Amino acid sequence: MNTTRRRFIQIGIGGGVAASILGFDLQKAYAQSKELKIARTTETRSTCPYCAVSCGIIIHTLGDKAKNVTAQVVHVEGDPDHPINRGTLCPKGSSLQQDIMNERRLLKPQVRRPGSDHWEDISWDAAIDGVARHIKKLRDDTFVTADSQGRPVNRLESLAFIGGCTDTNEFNYLAVKSMRSLGVVYLENQARV
Ligand code: SF4
Repeated sequence: MNTTRRRFIQIGIGGGVAASILGFDLQKAYAQSKELKIARTTETRSTCPYCAVSCGIIIHTLGDKAKNVTAQVVHVEGDPDHPINRGTLCPKGSSLQQDIMNERRLLKPQVRRPGSDHWEDISWDAAIDGVARHIKKLRDDTFVTADSQGRPVNRLESLAFIGGCTDTNEFNYLAVKSMRSLGVVYLENQARV
């Protein structure tokens, strides 16, 4: 049957009203269908990575943790015990399952080499070696020891660092310590944006 989106919504609303008139409690049915969906899942608490609010989430994963089983994320919801959002999520956070399960999600580091027109997958070891080598060269080439009036400053203005809202306090502590030890002055975090 061909139907428009508007007609589909009308039918849905009409069906809901009819069910209510006939005495069916749809709220209970909706709640029950959600319970069935997460009945056998593993719950993992995490933080929504999208914006600075950093809402708490619960990720429901299906899979018995056997070696040959790939766990599937079947539902993501707001964490009712989280002090920031108390179980609520905005539409963006509510769609997190699509982000986690997206076939276009990057699972490996990638590099686009000078002059190349495409990105290529590399190993984590190669990525970490490459980043370390570039930072060393940049620092050797551009480290500023004194300002225009000869006052010592010892800073690295050619490198900036930005963290994310899901970074832990411990990670941020290490990031600030290591960046400051290199002389980096431009430090920012997405959680402040
Ligand atoms: S659920 Fe929405 S408001 Fe909360 S952190 Fe995610 S994007 Fe931000």
